[in-house]
Amino acid sequence: MVQLSFDAHLCKTCPTGDCLVKCQYLDVDREKAGEEMVKISEGKDSFVLQDCVTCYACEEYCKRGNHPFYLITERRQEKGILVAPRAITRQWVNIGEPQGKYKVGKIRDKVLSLGFMPEYLESVKGELFEDLMPSYVFGQEFFCNVVYIHFADTAIIKQRLPRVIDHFKSLGVREVVFMHDECYGAFASLAPAYGMEVPFKAVHYFEYLYQRLRDLRDKIRPLRLKAAYQRPCSARLCPDKHHFVRDIMNLIGVELVERQYQDENALCCSGILSLCFGYDIAHDVKARNLADMVKHGAQYCVFNCPACQNTLGAEVAKMGIRPIHMIDLCRMAIGEKSPNGVRPT
Ligand code: SF4
Ligand code: SF4
Repeated sequence: MVQLSFDAHLCKTCPTGDCLVKCQYLDVDREKAGEEMVKISEGKDSFVLQDCVTCYACEEYCKRGNHPFYLITERRQEKGILVAPRAITRQWVNIGEPQGKYKVGKIRDKVLSLGFMPEYLESVKGELFEDLMPSYVFGQEFFCNVVYIHFADTAIIKQRLPRVIDHFKSLGVREVVFMHDECYGAFASLAPAYGMEVPFKAVHYFEYLYQRLRDLRDKIRPLRLKAAYQRPCSARLCPDKHHFVRDIMNLIGVELVERQYQDENALCCSGILSLCFGYDIAHDVKARNLADMVKHGAQYCVFNCPACQNTLGAEVAKMGIRPIHMIDLCRMAIGEKSPNGVRPT
C-alpha cells in the first residue's frame, strides 16, 4: 500500500526541531517545532498548514529521517487546505497527464531521463553525454509528478508515480540518470518514503557530470570565474548530492562565492511564491537573493533547474550577472561552448 511513513515518536524526542526552527519562512522555536509536528501527525490543526510556502527545505533540515514536508502536504490535502486556486492546481495537474506522446531513444541498460523538460532535449549534446545518448526517455510517461507537492496534491503523485515506475520497468533498464533533480528526488526520497519499490538504480546528473568531467579531464580549461549557485527547492530532496556542485566547480576552475543564501540557507527562486503566495513575499525573497549575489561579486549565476532559470534568468542579467545552466557551464569548460554561446573555433 502506498502510504507515507512518518514517526511522530521521533518528533516527541527531537533535540532540535530543526525542520521548523531552520525554516526561513516561519518563526518557530525548538519546543514549538516538535509540538507542531506531533499535532500535524495526529491530524490536528496547526498554523504551519496555513503558512508553509512549500520550499521543501524541512525535508533536508530533519536529520532524523522523518519527512516533515511530505506530512504537511498530506494533511493539507486531507483537510482541503488549498495552496493555490483550484483552477491553477487543475491546470498544472493536467500538464503532467500522460498523453501517449512520449519519446524514447535507443534504449540500453543505462538510460538518460529528461523527465518532461523540453529544455533538456537541446542541452544533452556533446562529449559529456556521449556514453549515454541516444539512450534516453522524455515525456509525461516518465515525469515524476513531484511538483504537485507544491500544490498539496499527494493523491495525484501516489496515483501516477507507480505508473511511471512501471514505464521504466517495461523498458528493462538497470540504471537511470536523471537530468531533473526533482525526478531524482522522486526515486531516491519520495518513493521510498511512501513504500514504493524502485526497480532500477537512480543516478543524479551532477554525479554523472562529475564522473564524466573527470574522464575528460585533459580537455578542461579552468574557467577562472566567480559564480553564485541558485539551489532549487527539489535539491532539498537529495541533499547528499549537493556536494557535487562544489566538486564540479573545483574541477572546472569556478570559484563559488561564499554568500549568505547558499547551501542549507538557500532561498527559493521565487517562482512558486509568486504563483501561490503573492507578489510581496516573492519580491522580498528575490530582492534579498539577487542583492546577495551582487554583494559577493558573482559574475555568473549557475542554475540547476530550468524553471528557476526561467524565473530568475532575466532578473540576474539585469543586475549584470550572466545566467547559465550547469550543463552549459561544464560544456564551456571543455571547449564546446564559448561565453557568448558560440562554439569556439
Ligand atoms: S520532523 Fe524531524 S526535525 Fe522535525 S521535529 Fe520531527 S524529528 Fe525533529
Ligand atoms: S516546506 Fe519550507 S516553508 Fe514549509 S515548513 Fe518546510 S521549511 Fe518551512
